[in-house]
Amino acid sequence: NVRVRFCPSPTGNPHVGLVRTALFNWAFARHHGGTLVFRIEDTDAARDSEESYQQLLDSMRWLGFDWDEGPEIGGPHAPYRQSQRMDIYKDVAQKLLDGGYAYRCYCTAEELDERREAARAAGRPSGYDGKCRVVTPEQQTAYEAEGRASIVRFRMPDEAITFTDIVRGELTFTPENVPDYGIVRANGAPLYTLVNPVDDALMEITHVLRGEDLLSSTPRQIALYKALIELGVAKSVPEFGHLPYVMGEGNKKLSKRDPQASLNLYRERGFLPAGLLNYLSLLGWSLSADQDIFSMEEMVAAFDIKDVNANPARFDLKKAEAINADHIRRLDVKAFAEACEPWLRAPHAPWAPEAFDRAAWEAIAPHAQTRLTVLSDITANVDFLFLDEPAEDEASWAKAMKEGSDALLRTARARLGDLEGAAWNADAIKAAVVAAGEEHGLKLGKAQAPVRVAVTGRTVGLPLFESLEILGRERTLARVDAALA
Ligand code: GLU
Repeated sequence: NVRVRFCPSPTGNPHVGLVRTALFNWAFARHHGGTLVFRIEDTDAARDSEESYQQLLDSMRWLGFDWDEGPEIGGPHAPYRQSQRMDIYKDVAQKLLDGGYAYRCYCTAEELDERREAARAAGRPSGYDGKCRVVTPEQQTAYEAEGRASIVRFRMPDEAITFTDIVRGELTFTPENVPDYGIVRANGAPLYTLVNPVDDALMEITHVLRGEDLLSSTPRQIALYKALIELGVAKSVPEFGHLPYVMGEGNKKLSKRDPQASLNLYRERGFLPAGLLNYLSLLGWSLSADQDIFSMEEMVAAFDIKDVNANPARFDLKKAEAINADHIRRLDVKAFAEACEPWLRAPHAPWAPEAFDRAAWEAIAPHAQTRLTVLSDITANVDFLFLDEPAEDEASWAKAMKEGSDALLRTARARLGDLEGAAWNADAIKAAVVAAGEEHGLKLGKAQAPVRVAVTGRTVGLPLFESLEILGRERTLARVDAALA
Protein backbone atom coordinates (compact mmCIF):
# COMPACT_ATOMS: atom_id res chain seq x y z
CA ASN A 1 0.00 0.00 0.00
CA VAL A 2 1.57 3.25 -1.19
CA ARG A 3 1.63 6.07 1.36
CA VAL A 4 3.25 9.34 0.31
CA ARG A 5 3.33 12.73 1.92
CA PHE A 6 3.37 16.35 0.99
CA CYS A 7 4.82 18.25 3.91
CA PRO A 8 5.48 21.93 3.27
CA SER A 9 6.56 24.45 5.87
CA PRO A 10 4.17 27.40 6.06
CA THR A 11 6.73 30.08 5.37
CA GLY A 12 5.95 32.69 2.74
CA ASN A 13 3.97 32.24 -0.44
CA PRO A 14 3.64 28.87 -2.10
CA HIS A 15 6.00 28.55 -5.06
CA VAL A 16 6.02 26.43 -8.20
CA GLY A 17 8.69 24.03 -6.93
CA LEU A 18 6.45 23.18 -4.03
CA VAL A 19 3.52 22.66 -6.36
CA ARG A 20 5.52 20.28 -8.53
CA THR A 21 6.45 18.24 -5.46
CA ALA A 22 2.81 18.12 -4.39
CA LEU A 23 1.77 17.16 -7.91
CA PHE A 24 4.20 14.26 -8.22
CA ASN A 25 3.22 12.91 -4.81
CA TRP A 26 -0.46 13.29 -5.59
CA ALA A 27 -0.17 11.67 -9.03
CA PHE A 28 1.89 8.82 -7.57
CA ALA A 29 -0.65 8.20 -4.80
CA ARG A 30 -3.59 8.35 -7.18
CA HIS A 31 -1.90 6.17 -9.79
CA HIS A 32 -1.35 3.45 -7.20
CA GLY A 33 -4.64 3.87 -5.40
CA GLY A 34 -2.52 4.86 -2.41
CA THR A 35 -2.78 7.47 0.31
CA LEU A 36 -1.62 11.07 0.21
CA VAL A 37 -0.79 12.47 3.61
CA PHE A 38 -0.71 16.26 3.86
CA ARG A 39 1.42 17.34 6.81
CA ILE A 40 2.33 20.82 7.93
CA GLU A 41 5.92 21.19 9.07
CA ASP A 42 5.52 24.17 11.36
CA THR A 43 8.11 23.64 14.04
CA ASP A 44 9.97 26.84 13.24
CA ALA A 45 7.90 29.38 15.14
CA ALA A 46 10.12 32.23 13.98
CA ARG A 47 9.40 31.61 10.28
CA ASP A 48 6.00 29.91 10.17
CA SER A 49 2.79 31.87 9.94
CA GLU A 50 -0.90 31.14 10.15
CA GLU A 51 -1.44 33.23 7.05
CA SER A 52 0.95 31.10 5.06
CA TYR A 53 -0.75 27.96 6.40
CA GLN A 54 -4.15 29.20 5.19
CA GLN A 55 -2.62 30.08 1.85
CA LEU A 56 -1.20 26.59 1.49
CA LEU A 57 -4.60 25.00 2.08
CA ASP A 58 -6.27 27.45 -0.26
CA SER A 59 -3.67 26.87 -2.99
CA MET A 60 -3.94 23.10 -2.73
CA ARG A 61 -7.69 23.34 -3.15
CA TRP A 62 -7.48 25.79 -6.01
CA LEU A 63 -5.12 23.43 -7.80
CA GLY A 64 -7.67 20.70 -7.34
CA PHE A 65 -5.60 18.39 -5.14
CA ASP A 66 -7.28 16.21 -2.60
CA TRP A 67 -5.58 14.47 0.28
CA ASP A 68 -6.58 11.45 2.31
CA GLU A 69 -5.15 12.46 5.65
CA GLY A 70 -4.20 15.90 6.85
CA PRO A 71 -5.40 19.24 8.06
CA GLU A 72 -9.15 19.79 8.17
CA ILE A 73 -9.93 16.15 7.41
CA GLY A 74 -7.84 14.43 10.09
CA GLY A 75 -6.92 10.77 9.88
CA PRO A 76 -5.47 7.90 11.90
CA HIS A 77 -2.19 9.72 12.58
CA ALA A 78 -3.64 13.08 13.60
CA PRO A 79 -2.68 15.75 14.36
CA TYR A 80 -1.03 16.63 11.03
CA ARG A 81 0.50 19.89 12.17
CA GLN A 82 3.88 19.32 13.72
CA SER A 83 3.41 22.20 16.14
CA GLN A 84 0.75 20.00 17.78
CA ARG A 85 3.02 16.94 18.02
CA MET A 86 5.77 18.26 20.26
CA ASP A 87 5.26 15.61 22.95
CA ILE A 88 5.87 12.90 20.40
CA TYR A 89 9.23 14.36 19.36
CA LYS A 90 10.30 14.90 22.92
CA ASP A 91 9.55 11.29 23.72
CA VAL A 92 11.42 9.97 20.66
CA ALA A 93 14.42 12.21 21.37
CA GLN A 94 14.56 10.79 24.91
CA LYS A 95 14.41 7.23 23.56
CA LEU A 96 17.26 7.98 21.16
CA LEU A 97 19.33 9.40 24.06
CA ASP A 98 18.53 6.47 26.35
CA GLY A 99 19.39 3.97 23.63
CA GLY A 100 22.73 5.65 22.93
CA TYR A 101 21.69 6.57 19.36
CA ALA A 102 22.04 10.22 20.23
CA TYR A 103 24.05 12.17 22.77
CA ARG A 104 24.19 15.55 24.42
CA CYS A 105 26.69 17.83 22.78
CA TYR A 106 28.09 20.67 24.91
CA CYS A 107 30.30 22.29 22.32
CA THR A 108 29.72 26.01 22.02
CA ALA A 109 29.28 27.75 18.68
CA GLU A 110 32.71 29.38 19.07
CA GLU A 111 34.40 26.07 19.77
CA LEU A 112 32.70 24.50 16.79
CA ASP A 113 33.78 27.35 14.54
CA GLU A 114 37.33 27.18 15.73
CA ARG A 115 37.63 23.45 15.15
CA ARG A 116 35.91 23.70 11.79
CA GLU A 117 38.44 26.31 10.68
CA ALA A 118 41.32 24.22 11.91
CA ALA A 119 40.00 21.16 10.08
CA ARG A 120 39.59 23.17 6.89
CA ALA A 121 43.08 24.54 7.17
CA ALA A 122 44.44 21.02 7.61
CA GLY A 123 42.38 19.73 4.68
CA ARG A 124 40.29 17.46 6.90
CA PRO A 125 36.48 17.09 6.66
CA SER A 126 35.00 20.08 8.43
CA GLY A 127 31.80 18.57 9.79
CA TYR A 128 31.24 17.85 13.47
CA ASP A 129 34.26 15.97 14.81
CA GLY A 130 32.48 13.79 17.36
CA LYS A 131 34.05 15.45 20.40
CA CYS A 132 31.01 14.89 22.64
CA ARG A 133 30.39 11.33 21.49
CA VAL A 134 32.00 10.28 24.73
CA VAL A 135 31.43 12.55 27.70
CA THR A 136 32.14 11.08 31.11
CA PRO A 137 29.68 11.78 33.93
CA GLU A 138 32.36 13.98 35.57
CA GLN A 139 32.81 16.05 32.41
CA GLN A 140 29.09 16.35 32.07
CA THR A 141 28.76 17.66 35.62
CA ALA A 142 31.59 20.08 34.98
CA TYR A 143 30.01 21.32 31.71
CA GLU A 144 26.72 21.84 33.41
CA ALA A 145 28.35 23.63 36.33
CA GLU A 146 29.93 25.96 33.74
CA GLY A 147 26.42 26.72 32.60
CA ARG A 148 26.94 25.25 29.13
CA ALA A 149 23.84 24.48 27.15
CA SER A 150 23.56 21.23 25.22
CA ILE A 151 21.91 20.18 22.02
CA VAL A 152 20.96 16.60 21.18
CA ARG A 153 23.12 15.19 18.41
CA PHE A 154 22.46 12.05 16.44
CA ARG A 155 25.33 9.56 16.27
CA MET A 156 25.93 8.56 12.67
CA PRO A 157 27.17 5.02 12.08
CA ASP A 158 30.81 4.75 11.08
CA GLU A 159 30.11 2.98 7.82
CA ALA A 160 28.97 4.24 4.45
CA ILE A 161 25.28 4.48 3.68
CA THR A 162 24.05 3.24 0.33
CA PHE A 163 20.55 3.45 -0.97
CA THR A 164 18.79 3.29 -4.30
CA ASP A 165 17.13 6.54 -5.17
CA ILE A 166 14.10 5.87 -7.37
CA VAL A 167 15.05 8.73 -9.67
CA ARG A 168 18.84 8.70 -9.41
CA GLY A 169 19.78 5.08 -8.88
CA GLU A 170 22.30 3.85 -6.33
CA LEU A 171 23.95 6.49 -4.17
CA THR A 172 26.60 6.12 -1.49
CA PHE A 173 27.49 8.55 1.27
CA THR A 174 30.69 8.02 3.22
CA PRO A 175 30.87 8.83 6.96
CA GLU A 176 33.20 11.83 6.57
CA ASN A 177 30.50 13.44 4.44
CA VAL A 178 27.73 12.80 6.91
CA PRO A 179 28.85 13.89 10.37
CA ASP A 180 26.77 13.58 13.55
CA TYR A 181 24.03 16.17 13.39
CA GLY A 182 21.78 18.12 15.74
CA ILE A 183 18.20 16.93 16.24
CA VAL A 184 17.10 19.05 19.25
CA ARG A 185 18.10 22.62 19.96
CA ALA A 186 19.50 23.75 23.30
CA ASN A 187 16.09 25.22 24.17
CA GLY A 188 14.47 21.83 23.65
CA ALA A 189 12.94 22.61 20.25
CA PRO A 190 13.15 19.63 17.90
CA LEU A 191 14.61 20.24 14.44
CA TYR A 192 13.50 19.27 10.94
CA THR A 193 16.18 16.58 11.00
CA LEU A 194 14.24 14.80 13.74
CA VAL A 195 10.60 15.63 13.20
CA ASN A 196 10.48 14.92 9.49
CA PRO A 197 11.69 11.30 9.60
CA VAL A 198 9.90 10.63 12.89
CA ASP A 199 6.61 11.64 11.32
CA ASP A 200 7.36 9.77 8.13
CA ALA A 201 7.97 6.70 10.31
CA LEU A 202 4.88 7.12 12.48
CA MET A 203 2.70 7.93 9.50
CA GLU A 204 4.05 4.83 7.76
CA ILE A 205 5.22 6.65 4.67
CA THR A 206 6.42 4.21 2.01
CA HIS A 207 7.89 6.66 -0.53
CA VAL A 208 9.53 10.00 0.12
CA LEU A 209 9.38 12.06 -3.08
CA ARG A 210 10.90 15.51 -2.70
CA GLY A 211 13.26 18.00 -4.25
CA GLU A 212 16.91 17.35 -4.92
CA ASP A 213 17.86 20.06 -2.42
CA LEU A 214 16.97 17.59 0.33
CA LEU A 215 19.17 14.79 -0.99
CA SER A 216 21.86 15.45 1.59
CA SER A 217 19.41 14.81 4.42
CA THR A 218 18.62 11.35 3.14
CA PRO A 219 21.62 9.42 4.51
CA ARG A 220 21.02 11.04 7.90
CA GLN A 221 17.38 10.11 7.79
CA ILE A 222 18.10 6.55 6.78
CA ALA A 223 20.46 6.19 9.74
CA LEU A 224 17.86 7.71 12.04
CA TYR A 225 15.24 5.38 10.63
CA LYS A 226 17.41 2.37 11.45
CA ALA A 227 17.63 3.56 15.04
CA LEU A 228 13.87 4.08 15.12
CA ILE A 229 13.33 0.55 13.85
CA GLU A 230 15.56 -0.83 16.61
CA LEU A 231 13.59 1.22 19.12
CA GLY A 232 10.31 -0.10 17.74
CA VAL A 233 9.17 3.35 16.61
CA ALA A 234 9.48 2.69 12.85
CA LYS A 235 8.63 -0.39 10.85
CA SER A 236 10.78 0.00 7.75
CA VAL A 237 12.84 2.51 5.82
CA PRO A 238 10.86 4.17 3.01
CA GLU A 239 12.09 4.47 -0.53
CA PHE A 240 13.42 7.86 -1.59
CA GLY A 241 13.11 9.68 -4.90
CA HIS A 242 14.59 13.13 -5.43
CA LEU A 243 12.99 15.32 -8.06
CA PRO A 244 15.29 17.36 -10.30
CA TYR A 245 16.16 20.98 -9.70
CA VAL A 246 14.17 23.58 -11.57
CA MET A 247 16.36 26.11 -13.33
CA GLY A 248 15.21 29.68 -13.97
CA GLU A 249 16.71 32.64 -15.81
CA GLY A 250 20.37 32.41 -16.71
CA ASN A 251 20.38 28.71 -15.86
CA LYS A 252 20.36 29.46 -12.16
CA LYS A 253 18.26 27.44 -9.75
CA LEU A 254 14.79 28.91 -9.58
CA SER A 255 14.63 30.36 -6.11
CA LYS A 256 11.59 30.82 -3.92
CA ARG A 257 12.19 34.54 -4.11
CA ASP A 258 12.08 34.64 -7.91
CA PRO A 259 8.89 36.45 -8.93
CA GLN A 260 8.40 33.75 -11.57
CA ALA A 261 8.32 31.14 -8.85
CA SER A 262 5.30 32.48 -7.02
CA LEU A 263 2.16 30.40 -7.41
CA ASN A 264 0.00 33.47 -6.76
CA LEU A 265 1.38 35.09 -9.88
CA TYR A 266 -0.05 32.31 -12.04
CA ARG A 267 -3.30 32.39 -10.23
CA GLU A 268 -3.64 36.14 -10.58
CA ARG A 269 -2.75 36.04 -14.26
CA GLY A 270 -5.49 33.52 -14.83
CA PHE A 271 -3.72 30.27 -15.46
CA LEU A 272 -6.10 27.35 -15.30
CA PRO A 273 -5.06 24.83 -12.64
CA ALA A 274 -5.10 22.15 -15.36
CA GLY A 275 -2.78 24.23 -17.56
CA LEU A 276 -0.36 25.08 -14.79
CA LEU A 277 -0.21 21.51 -13.50
CA ASN A 278 0.24 20.15 -17.01
CA TYR A 279 3.19 22.47 -17.45
CA LEU A 280 4.71 21.76 -14.05
CA SER A 281 4.47 18.02 -14.63
CA LEU A 282 6.86 18.48 -17.56
CA LEU A 283 9.54 19.65 -15.12
CA GLY A 284 11.04 16.21 -14.83
CA TRP A 285 8.38 14.02 -16.42
CA SER A 286 6.63 13.51 -19.70
CA LEU A 287 3.62 11.57 -20.83
CA SER A 288 5.20 10.65 -24.14
CA ALA A 289 7.67 12.12 -26.60
CA ASP A 290 4.94 13.53 -28.82
CA GLN A 291 2.26 14.65 -26.38
CA ASP A 292 2.85 17.77 -24.29
CA ILE A 293 -0.77 18.54 -23.53
CA PHE A 294 -2.74 16.26 -21.29
CA SER A 295 -5.26 16.24 -18.50
CA MET A 296 -4.59 15.31 -14.89
CA GLU A 297 -6.58 12.11 -15.45
CA GLU A 298 -4.18 11.16 -18.23
CA MET A 299 -1.22 12.03 -16.04
CA VAL A 300 -2.50 9.95 -13.13
CA ALA A 301 -3.14 6.98 -15.40
CA ALA A 302 0.41 7.10 -16.78
CA PHE A 303 2.49 8.47 -13.90
CA ASP A 304 5.42 6.37 -12.79
CA ILE A 305 7.99 7.95 -10.53
CA LYS A 306 10.63 5.74 -12.16
CA ASP A 307 10.19 7.74 -15.35
CA VAL A 308 11.18 11.00 -13.69
CA ASN A 309 14.34 12.40 -15.24
CA ALA A 310 17.21 13.23 -12.88
CA ASN A 311 18.52 16.10 -15.03
CA PRO A 312 17.67 19.66 -14.03
CA ALA A 313 14.51 20.94 -15.67
CA ARG A 314 14.33 24.39 -17.21
CA PHE A 315 11.43 26.62 -16.28
CA ASP A 316 10.07 28.18 -19.46
CA LEU A 317 7.34 30.76 -18.98
CA LYS A 318 6.54 30.91 -22.70
CA LYS A 319 5.91 27.21 -22.79
CA ALA A 320 3.80 27.40 -19.64
CA GLU A 321 1.67 30.05 -21.34
CA ALA A 322 1.34 28.06 -24.55
CA ILE A 323 0.20 25.02 -22.61
CA ASN A 324 -2.24 27.09 -20.62
CA ALA A 325 -3.64 28.55 -23.85
CA ASP A 326 -4.23 25.03 -25.07
CA HIS A 327 -6.15 24.16 -21.93
CA ILE A 328 -8.28 27.28 -22.36
CA ARG A 329 -9.23 26.06 -25.87
CA ARG A 330 -10.19 22.68 -24.47
CA LEU A 331 -12.86 24.01 -22.11
CA ASP A 332 -16.41 23.97 -23.26
CA VAL A 333 -17.50 27.51 -23.87
CA LYS A 334 -19.72 27.63 -20.80
CA ALA A 335 -16.88 26.55 -18.55
CA PHE A 336 -14.67 29.11 -20.24
CA ALA A 337 -17.20 31.88 -19.62
CA GLU A 338 -17.46 30.86 -15.99
CA ALA A 339 -13.70 30.67 -15.53
CA CYS A 340 -13.46 34.27 -16.75
CA GLU A 341 -16.04 35.61 -14.29
CA PRO A 342 -13.59 36.85 -11.65
CA TRP A 343 -11.93 39.09 -14.25
CA LEU A 344 -15.24 40.56 -15.33
CA ARG A 345 -15.86 42.04 -11.90
CA ALA A 346 -14.17 44.53 -9.66
CA PRO A 347 -11.39 44.92 -8.76
CA HIS A 348 -10.17 43.59 -12.12
CA ALA A 349 -12.87 45.14 -14.27
CA PRO A 350 -12.91 48.93 -14.57
CA TRP A 351 -16.63 49.10 -15.48
CA ALA A 352 -19.53 49.47 -13.07
CA PRO A 353 -21.30 46.18 -12.21
CA GLU A 354 -24.53 47.33 -13.88
CA ALA A 355 -22.65 48.04 -17.11
CA PHE A 356 -21.95 44.36 -17.52
CA ASP A 357 -24.17 42.91 -20.26
CA ARG A 358 -24.49 39.16 -20.05
CA ALA A 359 -25.86 38.68 -23.54
CA ALA A 360 -22.95 40.59 -25.04
CA TRP A 361 -20.52 38.59 -22.93
CA GLU A 362 -21.98 35.29 -24.06
CA ALA A 363 -21.81 36.44 -27.67
CA ILE A 364 -18.15 37.49 -27.46
CA ALA A 365 -16.91 34.64 -25.24
CA PRO A 366 -16.38 32.08 -28.04
CA HIS A 367 -14.19 34.58 -29.90
CA ALA A 368 -12.14 35.23 -26.79
CA GLN A 369 -11.73 31.56 -25.97
CA THR A 370 -9.70 30.85 -29.09
CA ARG A 371 -7.30 33.72 -28.43
CA LEU A 372 -6.51 34.11 -24.76
CA THR A 373 -3.29 32.86 -23.23
CA VAL A 374 -4.26 33.67 -19.68
CA LEU A 375 -7.72 34.48 -18.40
CA SER A 376 -6.81 37.86 -16.92
CA ASP A 377 -6.37 39.16 -20.48
CA ILE A 378 -10.13 38.96 -20.89
CA THR A 379 -10.68 42.28 -19.13
CA ALA A 380 -8.84 44.39 -21.69
CA ASN A 381 -10.27 42.33 -24.55
CA VAL A 382 -13.91 43.00 -23.73
CA ASP A 383 -13.81 46.33 -21.92
CA PHE A 384 -15.01 48.09 -25.11
CA LEU A 385 -18.36 46.35 -24.55
CA PHE A 386 -18.92 47.55 -21.01
CA LEU A 387 -17.23 50.93 -20.77
CA ASP A 388 -19.15 54.00 -21.89
CA GLU A 389 -16.17 55.11 -23.90
CA PRO A 390 -13.33 53.02 -25.24
CA ALA A 391 -10.26 52.68 -23.06
CA GLU A 392 -7.91 55.59 -23.50
CA ASP A 393 -4.61 54.36 -24.73
CA GLU A 394 -2.56 57.10 -26.28
CA ALA A 395 0.08 54.78 -27.64
CA SER A 396 -2.53 52.77 -29.55
CA TRP A 397 -4.13 55.90 -30.81
CA ALA A 398 -0.83 57.30 -32.07
CA LYS A 399 0.05 54.02 -33.71
CA ALA A 400 -3.19 53.57 -35.63
CA MET A 401 -4.15 57.14 -36.44
CA LYS A 402 -1.90 58.16 -39.28
CA GLU A 403 -2.25 60.72 -41.97
CA GLY A 404 -5.35 59.86 -43.94
CA SER A 405 -7.01 58.02 -41.06
CA ASP A 406 -9.66 60.69 -40.74
CA ALA A 407 -10.61 60.40 -44.40
CA LEU A 408 -10.77 56.62 -44.11
CA LEU A 409 -12.85 56.84 -40.94
CA ARG A 410 -15.27 59.23 -42.60
CA THR A 411 -15.82 56.85 -45.49
CA ALA A 412 -16.15 53.87 -43.16
CA ARG A 413 -18.63 55.86 -41.07
CA ALA A 414 -20.79 56.49 -44.12
CA ARG A 415 -20.73 52.86 -45.26
CA LEU A 416 -21.35 51.47 -41.79
CA GLY A 417 -24.18 53.94 -41.36
CA ASP A 418 -25.91 52.35 -44.34
CA LEU A 419 -26.19 49.02 -42.52
CA GLU A 420 -29.55 48.98 -40.80
CA GLY A 421 -31.34 46.31 -38.79
CA ALA A 422 -30.30 42.75 -39.67
CA ALA A 423 -27.77 44.12 -42.13
CA TRP A 424 -25.66 45.00 -39.08
CA ASN A 425 -23.69 41.76 -39.04
CA ALA A 426 -20.04 40.79 -39.11
CA ASP A 427 -19.94 39.92 -42.82
CA ALA A 428 -21.59 43.13 -43.91
CA ILE A 429 -19.46 45.17 -41.52
CA LYS A 430 -16.36 43.61 -42.97
CA ALA A 431 -17.51 44.35 -46.51
CA ALA A 432 -18.12 47.97 -45.54
CA VAL A 433 -14.61 48.37 -44.10
CA VAL A 434 -13.07 46.59 -47.11
CA ALA A 435 -14.90 48.94 -49.46
CA ALA A 436 -13.86 51.99 -47.47
CA GLY A 437 -10.26 50.81 -47.61
CA GLU A 438 -10.42 50.31 -51.36
CA GLU A 439 -11.64 53.85 -51.84
CA HIS A 440 -8.47 55.06 -50.12
CA GLY A 441 -6.13 52.51 -51.63
CA LEU A 442 -5.69 50.67 -48.30
CA LYS A 443 -5.56 46.93 -47.68
CA LEU A 444 -7.91 45.56 -45.05
CA GLY A 445 -5.27 45.40 -42.33
CA LYS A 446 -4.46 49.10 -42.72
CA ALA A 447 -8.08 50.11 -43.15
CA GLN A 448 -9.34 48.36 -40.05
CA ALA A 449 -6.69 49.71 -37.66
CA PRO A 450 -8.22 53.19 -37.21
CA VAL A 451 -11.68 51.68 -36.94
CA ARG A 452 -10.50 49.32 -34.24
CA VAL A 453 -8.83 52.05 -32.24
CA ALA A 454 -11.78 54.41 -32.62
CA VAL A 455 -14.19 51.80 -31.33
CA THR A 456 -12.17 49.69 -28.85
CA GLY A 457 -9.38 52.09 -27.93
CA ARG A 458 -6.76 49.43 -28.73
CA THR A 459 -4.71 48.28 -31.68
CA VAL A 460 -5.12 44.59 -30.96
CA GLY A 461 -8.11 42.65 -29.78
CA LEU A 462 -10.73 40.13 -30.67
CA PRO A 463 -11.94 39.74 -34.27
CA LEU A 464 -13.05 43.23 -35.16
CA PHE A 465 -16.17 42.66 -37.23
CA GLU A 466 -17.73 40.27 -34.75
CA SER A 467 -16.84 42.74 -32.01
CA LEU A 468 -18.64 45.56 -33.80
CA GLU A 469 -21.66 43.40 -34.47
CA ILE A 470 -21.91 42.60 -30.77
CA LEU A 471 -21.28 46.18 -29.68
CA GLY A 472 -24.16 47.26 -31.91
CA ARG A 473 -24.71 49.84 -34.59
CA GLU A 474 -25.51 52.88 -32.47
CA ARG A 475 -22.57 52.57 -30.13
CA THR A 476 -20.16 51.80 -32.95
CA LEU A 477 -21.20 54.80 -34.99
CA ALA A 478 -21.13 57.07 -31.96
CA ARG A 479 -17.54 56.06 -31.26
CA VAL A 480 -16.44 56.65 -34.82
CA ASP A 481 -18.13 60.05 -34.67
CA ALA A 482 -16.35 60.85 -31.41
CA ALA A 483 -13.02 59.92 -32.99
CA LEU A 484 -13.73 62.28 -35.88
CA ALA A 485 -14.95 65.13 -33.74
N1 GLU B 1 9.12 20.79 5.27
C1 GLU B 1 10.15 20.43 4.34
C2 GLU B 1 10.26 21.48 3.27
O1 GLU B 1 9.30 22.18 3.01
C3 GLU B 1 9.83 19.08 3.75
C4 GLU B 1 10.99 18.39 3.20
C5 GLU B 1 10.73 16.95 2.88
O2 GLU B 1 9.94 16.68 1.96
O3 GLU B 1 11.31 16.09 3.52
O4 GLU B 1 11.31 21.68 2.70
